[in-house]
Amino acid sequence: MNSIKHIAVLTSGGDSPGMNPAIRAVVRTAIYHGLKVTGVQRGYQGLLEKKFTPLKASSVGNILQRGGTFLKTSRSPEFRQKEVRKKAFENLKNYGIDALIVIGGDGSFKGASLLNKEYGLPIVGIPGTIDNDISGTNYSIGFYTAVQTAVEAVDKIRDTASSHERNFLIEVMGRNASAIANYVGICSGAETVLTPDKEVNYQSLVEKIKQGQDRGKKSSIIIVAEGKVAGRSYQIQETLHNQYNVKAHVCILGHTQRGGNPTAQERFWATQMGHEAVMGLLGGYCRHATILLENEVKLNPIETCLHKRNTLTGNFQELIDKLSI
Ligand code: ADP
Repeated sequence: MNSIKHIAVLTSGGDSPGMNPAIRAVVRTAIYHGLKVTGVQRGYQGLLEKKFTPLKASSVGNILQRGGTFLKTSRSPEFRQKEVRKKAFENLKNYGIDALIVIGGDGSFKGASLLNKEYGLPIVGIPGTIDNDISGTNYSIGFYTAVQTAVEAVDKIRDTASSHERNFLIEVMGRNASAIANYVGICSGAETVLTPDKEVNYQSLVEKIKQGQDRGKKSSIIIVAEGKVAGRSYQIQETLHNQYNVKAHVCILGHTQRGGNPTAQERFWATQMGHEAVMGLLGGYCRHATILLENEVKLNPIETCLHKRNTLTGNFQELIDKLSI
């Protein structure tokens, strides 16, 4: 018989819209199956500071549609130290917690995996990051809402861009990840997308803008992934202006992409992942993560999800190029 009677759930690292539906599903599934559930506030920091709150079914009422995470999140650099993780484990044990569900990115997963390796604590990770760049899964919570928010913003900017016959560089999130930029580019009909993995090819960018103008286009929308330093668009704007005599306005969407009500699709997958995480623990899985592959939520060893990936790049650039002639 499974010995898990009491589980804890926390959100860690960058927040993302859809974490709340996942927490709700965890709590309600656990209670349905007769488990006690504790919410840990502010991620791993909360484990160290014993920020434990018992959760009831009603504790997660009316959060399904809300962005952010009602458990709060944080970065906890000291959690990388072994002796600090020991303290976290002891706090969990003293509170009677048998297993932990961690909603976060690959960094949070590394911490969870270590808690299991070092102390045998059963853990399940649920991928949560708007960048959708966790290895081993096609989806991480927050991605669809971030894309939706950015696309709605681009639609609005396009209205003013075409009225004033202006070019716009619209910067979306993605330090190393191209997924948001590519999806937004496709869904908003952008002229081109500048991803962080490639140097900007100014010659082809300018040609693209001129080609549009030659066929009567009055404005161009260029999606820029932020890259290493937010504000990359301003450098591109300057180079376009100074070296190619092309004017463009900059709009940085920034943290708006992290907020907002999770979309229906987001709630759908986040809910299934929350449910699967609890079922996994009850089924004896102990160092795993929920993943979405082939349109199905499954459990895989968490080791498959500890890296960043950028495989969503596909041939999206080619598609955007073809359609923006
Ligand atoms: P994300 O989970 O969104 O990738 P971070 O990389 O900031 O965000 O990780 C979130 C937290 O996970 C960190 O603040 C730290 O507490 C923990 N963490 C990250 N990397 C490790 C690691 N290598 N070992 C142990 N804990 C880690």
